[in-house]
Formats: sequence, structure tokens, C-alpha cells
Amino acid sequence: MKIYNLTGYSILFFYMLACMYSAPAHLGPWIGLLIGGVYFVFAWFLAGVYLADVLHMGIAHRALDYKEWFIKTVTVVNNFLGIYVDPIAWVNRHRLHHKNADHDGDPNKLSGDGFWQTLYRCLMPYQCNENLAKDPVLQSRTFRVVANPLFAIVSQALSFYLLWKLVGSLKFTVVMWLGTRIFALWVNMVQNYWTHTRDFGFRRYNDEQDNAMNIGDWLPVTATFSACLQNNHHHLAKWQELYN
Ligand SMILES: [Zn+2]
Repeated sequence: MKIYNLTGYSILFFYMLACMYSAPAHLGPWIGLLIGGVYFVFAWFLAGVYLADVLHMGIAHRALDYKEWFIKTVTVVNNFLGIYVDPIAWVNRHRLHHKNADHDGDPNKLSGDGFWQTLYRCLMPYQCNENLAKDPVLQSRTFRVVANPLFAIVSQALSFYLLWKLVGSLKFTVVMWLGTRIFALWVNMVQNYWTHTRDFGFRRYNDEQDNAMNIGDWLPVTATFSACLQNNHHHLAKWQELYN
């Protein structure tokens, strides 16, 4: 089994186990597993629509058109109830990632970065040296509010509190809340490390200027909303104008 699949399935397995063990007695392990599963699928689906569809294809690449109310609703709901990702910073980093893929100026990863360095950069990306996120929708009040660090802290604390009140156990809440975010970090590593290192995946296009690879296995494809076909994506995105 490929190491990225093994890691992903292990996180899922331990998440399920931890949900069963940490569920309060009045719920029991099976209802605990069900609640943990519902929270996990809810966070995955919301993050997929928000990141892969709205921020990535909708805003960063302008490849999909959405109504503005839909973009804003998904952005607020995901960042309030799901896993927080600063939308303005993300779009800027993503465009810089395409412009400088795997080279100086790519906030995600440099060509020589290994597993642990890339993991660290998922949490603390390289400094951006340009602002390519000047789209009107990113300047709107909704986006400026969501991108504020105070919003990040308050919304994540509130959603944690809400989940805690809903399930009635602090331990169970910590397991679900952290477990889902550990899986999200794995998804981030599929995108930033395993599909940007020549040792994994396959290439349809032999582009020498980046290390983008395609990974086509079921779990990474499903988890990333099929955004892990990075070699195809980088090849096609080169023909787009991203920066005006
Ligand atoms: Zn892209």
C-alpha cells in the first residue's frame, strides 16, 4: 500500500476508534461512532465545496462561475462551523504557488523540501512576496471580516463550544474536533507534498518547471474533491491568466 494511503486510512481508523472510546456512556460506542462520522463528513463536504470548488476553481482560477451570495454563504458557513482557512491568504498563496511552482516564491514547498519541512509549511507557509489576490470579491466586507484573525479565533472557539454543548462531553469533542483537523492536515499534505514530489504518483505531461504529480487512488481523490491530479491541473492552469 502506498504510504499516503496508509497514512490516510490509519488516521481514519484511529479517528473512528477514538470516537468509540471517548463517547460518553449514555451514548455508547456505536452512537459515538455515528456522531463522529456525521461531524467528519459534514466538515469534509463543507471544506471540499469551500476550498476545492469555490476558492480554488471559482476564485483563484476563475474556472467556475458562482453567484456571489453562494460564494459568501459557503465562506461564512465553512469558516464558522467547519475548518477555518483564511480565504484571501489562501487565494494569494495558491496563485503564487502556480506562478512559482516548487521554486523560490512558492509559499507551499520548495523543490528540495522533504516531508517534515512541508508539514511545517502547511501550518507556517513561506512568506508571500507579491499580492495576487486583488479580486473585488476578496475586497468585500464579508471576505475582509472572515480573513481577520479575530474571526478565526472567535469562530473556531464558538464552533468548538457548540459541538461540546451538543454532545455533552469535552473529551469526545476534543477527539472529533482535533481528529477531523488531523485528517485535514493529511489532505493538505497530499496536495503540498505527495503530489509535488517526483517519487509519488504519475505524470501525464512532462513539464520540467514543476514537480506536480497525479495521484489517482480512491481515498486521496475523494478526500481532495479530485484536486490531487496536480500534474494535469498545473499543465492546464498555465494557459490561464490568473494575475490581472
Ligand atoms: Zn490551482
